Amino acid sequence: LFAPVELAPRDPILGLTEQFNADTRTQKVNLGVGVYGDENGRLPLLQAVQQAEARLLATPRPRGYQPIDGAPAYNKAAQALLLGSDHAAITEGRAVTVQTLGGTGALKIGADFLRQWLPQADVVISNPSWENHRAIFERAGFNVGTYPYYDADSHGLDFEGMVKHLESLPAGTIVVLHACCHNPTGVDPTPEQWQRIAAVVQSRGLLPFIDMAYQGFGDGLQEDAATVRLFAGLGINVVISSSFSKSFSLYGERVGALTLLTTSADESARVLSQLKRTIRTNYSNPPTHGSAIVSTVLNTPELAQLWEQELAQMRNRIRDMRGQLVSKLAALGVQQDFSFILSQRGMFSYSGLSPEQVARLCNEFGIYAVGTGRICVSALNPNNLDYVAQSVAQVYKT
Ligand code: PMP
Repeated sequence: LFAPVELAPRDPILGLTEQFNADTRTQKVNLGVGVYGDENGRLPLLQAVQQAEARLLATPRPRGYQPIDGAPAYNKAAQALLLGSDHAAITEGRAVTVQTLGGTGALKIGADFLRQWLPQADVVISNPSWENHRAIFERAGFNVGTYPYYDADSHGLDFEGMVKHLESLPAGTIVVLHACCHNPTGVDPTPEQWQRIAAVVQSRGLLPFIDMAYQGFGDGLQEDAATVRLFAGLGINVVISSSFSKSFSLYGERVGALTLLTTSADESARVLSQLKRTIRTNYSNPPTHGSAIVSTVLNTPELAQLWEQELAQMRNRIRDMRGQLVSKLAALGVQQDFSFILSQRGMFSYSGLSPEQVARLCNEFGIYAVGTGRICVSALNPNNLDYVAQSVAQVYKT
């Protein structure tokens, strides 16, 4: 019966990591990954997380089922982090938040819900976008198109192209937006550009689906939430997927949230009842441990403060690596201006490396990047930065 099952193509980024692991060169560097590495290249276990776990262990609790929509204290804290706890959408009962299996789970539940209730809508994602955006919305049954986003010539945003495209979309189109730290390019709209994007979304009657996988990795927790709060201030329907995978370094615990902004408390009650159905038929209810950690941190002022400090350290380290890479390349005499890397935000950078240059970095130097030229800046550290800069310089100069 399974004879017709075809072999699926390998995930390109995981494939890269397999190739990297098999490489025997000692100086090899993996810039293809999508996780934050500390100054020693290791995945951090945050102090705030360790202290929250110690508190949880001190009063062990049985592991019953959670409510379908997750832990109330977690949902409330996740919502407050997005909107600010006194936001009108919260006080007026217009915000519905459910716990999800990471940001991916939020996208999946959101996509399934929208497919059921807005079956005529199409989805647009940025060109380029995180690969899973297209896959998730297509799997849910949507037609997925793209809007212009990255401009290779300027290494920046094709803002006019983006706005023009959004203006041409039929009312009800679902527009997937990256709240900050765009994956894969690192290019975000400015606050003024966001204002215009929001105005077009509102006037065209589009549905913004804001994906926030990197809150705190751009300019700060509050600063990065500005996009979400801008859209929330419009009083229109908004969908937000958020994730603590990166900001808490809790990748494997699968902690995320899906938040829907509605136009009334009554609409919220109906939306929540249907979201629960969507969750129930996917995985019934979410797991306990990861959300208990996040909830403990966010609801304990001294742990929340410690977490913000650790998050700032991650953010500042990435920014420092961006700066050092740019200045080292200049010092090595590379003519190409790489200053755009400094204005990019988050873990990733579209470096401008061509597929041929990416292949040379891999073959000659054991430096692995994605074929599009995407590099994970947080994989750079004091131990590999000189080697990477020298290798990139070689590839540019010869
Ligand atoms: N959205 C974007 C833009 C992402 O980059 C990622 C993670 N790579 C996710 C969503 C999913 O996050 P999670 O790992 O929490 O499922």
